[in-house]
Amino acid sequence: MLYSQDTIAAISTPHGNGGIGIIRISGEEAFRIAAEIFVGKKKFDEIKTHTINYGKIINPETGEILDEVLLSKMKKPNTFTREDVVEINCHGGTVVLKNILELVLKKGARIAEPGEFTKRAFLNGRLDLSQAEAVIDLINAKTSESSKAAMNQLEGKLSVKLKEARKKLIEVLAHIEVTVDYPEHDIEEITGEKVYSEIKDIREKLNNIIKGFEKGRIIREGVNAVIVGRPNVGKSSLLNELTGKNRAIVTDIPGTTRDIIEEYINLNGVPVRIIDTAGIRETDDLVEKIGVEKTNKELESADLIIMMIDSYKGIEKEDTEILDKVKDKKVIVILNKIDLANEEKLAEIESKIEDKKVIRMSLKQGIGTDELADAVVELFVKGEVILNNEVIITNVRHKNLIDKAIESIDYAINAYKSGMPLDMITIDIVNSAQYLGEITGESVSEDVMNEIFSRFCLGK
Ligand code: GDP
Ligand code: ZN
Repeated sequence: MLYSQDTIAAISTPHGNGGIGIIRISGEEAFRIAAEIFVGKKKFDEIKTHTINYGKIINPETGEILDEVLLSKMKKPNTFTREDVVEINCHGGTVVLKNILELVLKKGARIAEPGEFTKRAFLNGRLDLSQAEAVIDLINAKTSESSKAAMNQLEGKLSVKLKEARKKLIEVLAHIEVTVDYPEHDIEEITGEKVYSEIKDIREKLNNIIKGFEKGRIIREGVNAVIVGRPNVGKSSLLNELTGKNRAIVTDIPGTTRDIIEEYINLNGVPVRIIDTAGIRETDDLVEKIGVEKTNKELESADLIIMMIDSYKGIEKEDTEILDKVKDKKVIVILNKIDLANEEKLAEIESKIEDKKVIRMSLKQGIGTDELADAVVELFVKGEVILNNEVIITNVRHKNLIDKAIESIDYAINAYKSGMPLDMITIDIVNSAQYLGEITGESVSEDVMNEIFSRFCLGK
């Protein structure tokens, strides 16, 4: 059974978060339970819906006052779950919250499973599945940009596009049906052309959504960046500057950053996971060697390489080796220590790496870090992407399903091109529509749904 009618309750504010907390109750019994434990100026039954009311929570058996509260009464259907909802805003800290929740449970509610409030909102038609998933993303969003992307999804922008595509597929099916019912040759031919051009069009639209996925991933999970460069070029200093902490050890001895150090930073709203490496030079020192091996691994999986060159020393053999190693990657080259080099020297270095984005920097003088942040944003999000209404999928499940929907369309296209009769390709179109429906929840298995909602935290 997908939907249980019982009344659920949970603390829906994060754990250990100061004194204030909210207990949310949803379901048929919510009002009855609240009426038994709330004592305010008005009786609970006389309180108007969608109002906030001051009062006390009292254990009716013992007469004990548990807390002074603000209580919201919300009659269905204009509630988050589309059920009767009561929210109790407590002041008394974690213990009090737990005591009130216990009392609510004793009066007949059941503790909500993680995500169950949102699941009910979905099952009662208030949210579609991708919107419900956006609630998770919103809760987990690391930066303001990622929460904007989740917000767009919550507002249903992705759903609108997918529902449109799915509707078109179903229309195509209807066309084919007509042809099969009236199997004269020329009708089939005309319909065939039409079906072909329509599904190609749908494919194109889905493909555009997929293209946004990479951007979506970056907005949600961040750019994986690695700082590389010869020992002593200033890698740890840069990391310290960007994070504003002193975690990486900065020294004058080459090769001191023995292991890999990673930090999460926020560059103009783009989350960046940034890694300081031990440098890529060959070494006999075992500890350093482990660092070097890890570095090579990190380089392979990185979205961005920040390559540092010492302006005073210029490009040496090791630098050329590093540049060669990362030639297929997105690279930003930093000429650090420009305080130690003159313009002639800098121009000479730059002439050797003309094809790369180069930033002049002096960590000593505080020059160049803003330009680095701008370059990262330019390279990965280009600002307008998020601000405009572009649909960004940030969810791997969605991407996989859209991929499958496209694959099914490709089967249909190939079958049509190889001269198969139209009714032979209906199954592929049905499949494609099915995959899209699994994203919005128009067609979705119970397993998938339970999996999704179990990823919520308690009380949401
Ligand atoms: P790493 O080995 O690449 O991590 O280099 P570090 O960050 O440990 O820096 C090595 C040395 O270079 C330290 O003494 C830093 O203070 C110094 N350094 C870093 N950036 C600059 C800079 O822009 N100008 C100058 N003159 N020195 C710098
Ligand atoms: Zn270092």
